[in-house]
Amino acid sequence: MNTDQLFLGIDIGGSSIKYGVGNRKQGLQSFQSLPVTQKDLSGLEGLIVQIISEMQISSVWNGIKAIGIGTPGLIDRKTGQLVGINPNLPFWIDIRPESIVPPDLSIPVFSDNDANLMALAESTQYPLDACVLGITIGSGIGSGYVVASRIYHGSNGFAMELGHVCVAPGGALCNCGRQGCLEAYAAEKGMRNRLQERGKDLSRIQLAELLSLAKTDTVVQDVVDTGISYMALAVGNAIMLLDPDVVVFGGGGSEIADYPLKELIKMIRSYLPEPVNHRIKLEKAHMGNKSGVLGAILHAESLFADTWER
Ligand SMILES: [Zn+2]
Repeated sequence: MNTDQLFLGIDIGGSSIKYGVGNRKQGLQSFQSLPVTQKDLSGLEGLIVQIISEMQISSVWNGIKAIGIGTPGLIDRKTGQLVGINPNLPFWIDIRPESIVPPDLSIPVFSDNDANLMALAESTQYPLDACVLGITIGSGIGSGYVVASRIYHGSNGFAMELGHVCVAPGGALCNCGRQGCLEAYAAEKGMRNRLQERGKDLSRIQLAELLSLAKTDTVVQDVVDTGISYMALAVGNAIMLLDPDVVVFGGGGSEIADYPLKELIKMIRSYLPEPVNHRIKLEKAHMGNKSGVLGAILHAESLFADTWER
């Protein structure tokens, strides 16, 4: 690869769009964030135009060969469209994520699920042939699996939806419309809903405050403990199925000082047989909130090389 080639990575989230420029060899060269204030399609399009205009003014644009977009939600790899329900961006559905970039720019655009891209970015911390399971903890629970620097998508692109594996048959209603999903217990919104059921209206507080409150409030502690125990069960099962070299925990939740990551890891290990326990690494993500942007850059670079430089 020509090391002068740059790629623009855009990580679309429910509350902000993060973006930056870089490539595999040089890493992330810049990183910025814009709040999503207008929560509709034209609001999102406006932010993308703003980001690209910034790049064009600073002349960075001239070196950019392709754009990578990370997005929450399921991307059907047969149609390229976001499908199902996208709880944090309800309008962002039945659409190709690439179409958010104005077509008159004539630049290749590639998209993937944000947790897949987090796992891809984190995989750069390990040997090239490593099997890396990345898990994001925040308003939802996401996961991605990277084998030898390639994202595992499954048949349709729907693989690795750890947040929506059933951990409690007939249990709490999830925002996907089904019952008993991990996300309904272990993610920020799920925990708040479980507290609401127990008479605690904490609808305005963030995960950091909720986890802090768990130290003094036994009901909150119980809800958090339940979420962590379901998380351990789901991750333990995923490890037994996938046999990864490493599991990395990222997303905003894992960055919170009170997030009980040590307890979670200990519980996961209690589900694993000795040979697996002996080999596997379970650790906090290395790149924090920048991993989605770097993953989008790496994804664009890889597909650009496959498609345009073969
Ligand atoms: Zn669900």
